[in-house]
Amino acid sequence: MKSFAYASARSVDSAQQMVGDNGQYLAGGNDLLGLLKEYLVDPKILVNIKSIPGMDKIEPSGKVWNIGALVTVAQIESDPGIKKTFPGLAQAAADVGSQQIRNVASVGGNLAQHSRCWYFRHRDVLCLKKEGDMCYARHGENKFHSLFTGNNCISPVVSNLAIAFAALDAVAVVQREGQPVRMTMAELYAKAFDNPTAHNSLNPGDLILKVEVPVTRTHSAYLQTSEKHEFDWALVSCAAAAKVADGKLSQARVALGSISPVPHQVKGANDFLEGKTLDDATASQAADLILKNAKPHGHNDYKIPMAHAMIRRTLLKLNG
Ligand SMILES: Cc1cc2nc3c(=O)[nH]c(=O)nc-3n(C[C@H](O)[C@H](O)[C@H](O)COP(=O)(O)OP(=O)(O)OC[C@H]3O[C@@H](n4cnc5c(N)ncnc54)[C@H](O)[C@@H]3O)c2cc1C
Ligand code: SF4
Repeated sequence: MKSFAYASARSVDSAQQMVGDNGQYLAGGNDLLGLLKEYLVDPKILVNIKSIPGMDKIEPSGKVWNIGALVTVAQIESDPGIKKTFPGLAQAAADVGSQQIRNVASVGGNLAQHSRCWYFRHRDVLCLKKEGDMCYARHGENKFHSLFTGNNCISPVVSNLAIAFAALDAVAVVQREGQPVRMTMAELYAKAFDNPTAHNSLNPGDLILKVEVPVTRTHSAYLQTSEKHEFDWALVSCAAAAKVADGKLSQARVALGSISPVPHQVKGANDFLEGKTLDDATASQAADLILKNAKPHGHNDYKIPMAHAMIRRTLLKLNG
């Protein structure tokens, strides 16, 4: 690990002033410390943001809940209000890593975590994401990689919370150049879809303040499949949310993780579900639409039938 300066911020303004263009924010440190130890990032200063007051609160309301960027994943998992109002989000949190990780991992850090691609994580491999000239996964070991992408990097988004937030139409509020900017989950990752060096759409110095979650959808669900039950990322994850009245869906959203650099959503599938009563055939047709243009790379072919099954199962959970 290279040497760096360290400071604790007392406010959003002071955090942004101290971090500048060459610093990194430190929240729970789950991801950042690994990146430092492997020489994958080289910040001149680490700015501890856990000392900023007021960013660790879950604030319920009738229309939009505010979830601070320093709320831990464990808080989301165990909050009785979240379990009742956004059960899909509570489940996504419960499936993160292990209890020890969830206890310290923050919402902001979970959303801003870097690629888990094993070529990226190897300090000696200079792939496209590190401004090298090739993607080693495309013709190499790609069993964990994307079925969709807009560039030559096929590393997928693996944040559980991003997938659940996407299905709930949640918005991240990001402090950028002194102003709050609101970004949908699609916008928060759009740059990673288009640009191989990006992990997300945050600029240097951008600070996620909170996530706003609308209470529009009465039902939500989340499922993931991993190689290990604990301490592992999803091979495929799926979140669904909708209003359900008299057995019919409205404003349905389905989002998938670990198959694209953005939470994968297909508007045509969401539209198809409008006014439908959910049964296996309907869920299966939605899954067909969502996966229609999937492009596997050999070792990750299995993700197509896996994702199909997970979409069906997650949607059918909305009936419960
Ligand atoms: C073994 C293991 C298994 C895991 N399994 C899963 C899993 O299944 N699902 C899953 O979703 N995650 C998983 N994780 C990832 C873990 O959830 C994230 O590493 C963690 O959430 C990061 O949060 P943190 O607060 O520790 O972030 P940090 O490590 O402190 O920060 C991570 C990154 O986010 C930036 N950052 C932090 N806060 C902000 C902010 N407010 N605004 C802007 N940038 C910010 C930091 O500068 C850094 O670049 C796993 C991790 C491990 C080690
Ligand atoms: S998938 Fe992306 S991160 Fe992985 S080797 Fe290819 S360019 Fe690098």
